[in-house]
Amino acid sequence: MIEGRTGEWEVVVGLEVHAQVVAEAKLFSGAATAFGAAPNTQVSTVDAAFPGMLPVINRHCVEQAVKTGLGLDAQINLHSVFDRKNYFYPDLPAGYQISQYQQPVVGRGRVEIELADGTVREIGITRLHLEQDAGKSLHDQHPTKTYVDLNRAGVALMEIVSEPDMRNSEEAAAYLRKLRSILRYLGTCDGNMEEGSLRCDCNVSVRRAGETKFGTRAEIKNVNSIRFVMQAIEYEARRQIEILEDGGSIVQETRLFDAHRGETRPMRSKENDFDYRYFPDPDLLPLELDPAWIEGLRRGLPELPDARKARFVAELGLTPYDADVLVAEKSHADYFETVAAGRDAKLAANWVTGDLFGALNRLGKEIEASPVSAPALGELLDLIRDNTISGRIAKDVFAAMLETGKSAGAIVEQRGLRQVTDSGPIEAAVEAVLAANAE
Ligand code: ADP
Ligand code: MG
Repeated sequence: MIEGRTGEWEVVVGLEVHAQVVAEAKLFSGAATAFGAAPNTQVSTVDAAFPGMLPVINRHCVEQAVKTGLGLDAQINLHSVFDRKNYFYPDLPAGYQISQYQQPVVGRGRVEIELADGTVREIGITRLHLEQDAGKSLHDQHPTKTYVDLNRAGVALMEIVSEPDMRNSEEAAAYLRKLRSILRYLGTCDGNMEEGSLRCDCNVSVRRAGETKFGTRAEIKNVNSIRFVMQAIEYEARRQIEILEDGGSIVQETRLFDAHRGETRPMRSKENDFDYRYFPDPDLLPLELDPAWIEGLRRGLPELPDARKARFVAELGLTPYDADVLVAEKSHADYFETVAAGRDAKLAANWVTGDLFGALNRLGKEIEASPVSAPALGELLDLIRDNTISGRIAKDVFAAMLETGKSAGAIVEQRGLRQVTDSGPIEAAVEAVLAANAE
């Protein structure tokens, strides 16, 4: 709830996420999709819309969309249709985008999010459909000209549309983090927002507390980080509240988020679907899926973050908080499991979420580039368990491992850190001290 001048307001948010499909080739052509290639080096005649070229569906992209649908606990539609969405733009040589309109490949699903206070909420997924990305207009290469790069043209995107189920920016952020985590576990989208593999349109409206009808929404296009999504929602909600409290009304429109100013501003009035003159693409047959093929994909799904978290809590005895921190990134959870295998899981969780994450943070490194590998950290924990070193000395050994890349065992031997637990030599030492200092 947001406190306005005239009372309390509720924010309503629905997100449309464009997720780039992990695939070697484009949705309807064999051109490559690698990020960062020189302009116009990954363009086929289909992507450039040469006359008479025909699209051929990439089976792998369909598989990725279906897997994602299964990961979102969604309905998979056995029959779906590709449509042409017509509009003109220099980076869209065909004059239309191939998308799915009334009959998407994936229908209703859901995502569970957990908020900071531990509350769990379910966010509805309206649909997921496959579509082509457009090319890119480059405005900064020449003072008076705009160049067009078609490398991205035709790359497969999944548009994932949520229900208007979120009620503030925190929930929107939690939803995006969760969605990204699921996509990464599935390997269907790398979730990299800086490279544009995950882009988010935020639909925002407000209504008075207790009101049951939704207000008119504004759609903020292409916000490219979770922090900006939160800022855009908060700014936009306040803007709408001010207008309504001044007796004005909200116009449905498309807005842009200006990250430098932290504000949204108008881009264009909302176009209607009929402006796009959607119709089924006559070059493509409807997509017919075999239920047995879908079942095969379902059986092959990896363990997803919710299930992994539940297992970490139930079987390894972690706190829900630690489990949550560990499962958010698949690479973190994998690292932890290697360390924890056959060892004290809680101790492993403390070392990974505390010492290791702290060190990686300081070094500005991702876990993949960690100077201490999971087996190496495991070896350190073994030295604590068999009393070779104490827990306190282990911290020094860990610091040395980070610095030198050497194994825990080697550092302990070289520096003579081996702890003496045999009472014989200790008693002898005590005797010697007492004898020399009898008084
Ligand atoms: P369009 O296709 O024109 O973008 P949709 O009806 O498909 O419109 O909705 C797009 C997104 O807007 C969805 O994520 C939906 O949840 C969200 N949305 C719809 N109505 C509202 C509203 N009143 N306030 C906030 N979000 C909304
Ligand atoms: Mg939309």
